[in-house]
Parts: sequence; structure tokens; C-alpha cells
Amino acid sequence: MTKPDMISCATALARLWAFIDGELEPASEAEVQAHLHVCRRCYPQFDFQHAYFQAMQRLASRPEPAGLRSATLSRIHAAG
Ligand SMILES: [Zn+2]
Repeated sequence: MTKPDMISCATALARLWAFIDGELEPASEAEVQAHLHVCRRCYPQFDFQHAYFQAMQRLASRPEPAGLRSATLSRIHAAG
């Protein structure tokens, strides 16, 4: 599944958060995008992290009871 000009799964996964966050250089972003297009192993990771990122953004954009976010995060980390 890996072409010579394609980044490895490890590289793609290492860049995933920055990719979702829009922090990658255009070239790196394109590499991750190309990888996710063809790699069935990494795509579910991306899907999950993207959904998680969006959920965090929704939480951040509205008022919340004090401590809810850290309680949620520690629950997620405990489960992960
Ligand atoms: Zn992969």
C-alpha cells in the first residue's frame, strides 16, 4: 500500500493533530491528505481525532460548568 513518494503510517499519525488543527505546512498537509486517501489503517484514526477535535471546539465555544472539561478529558484519557 505504500508508494515510494508516500509518507509512512507513523509519519502520518504523528502529524495528524497538526493536520486537523490546520497547523501543517501546505506540503506536509498534502502528504497527510494523500496518505489518508489510500490508507485504511490511518483513516479511522483521523476520523476519530477529527470528531474529537470538533467536539472539543463545540465545548470551548459555549459556557460550561467549572471543571467539566478537565473531568471529561481525564475520563477520555483513562479510557484511551
Ligand atoms: Zn497509514
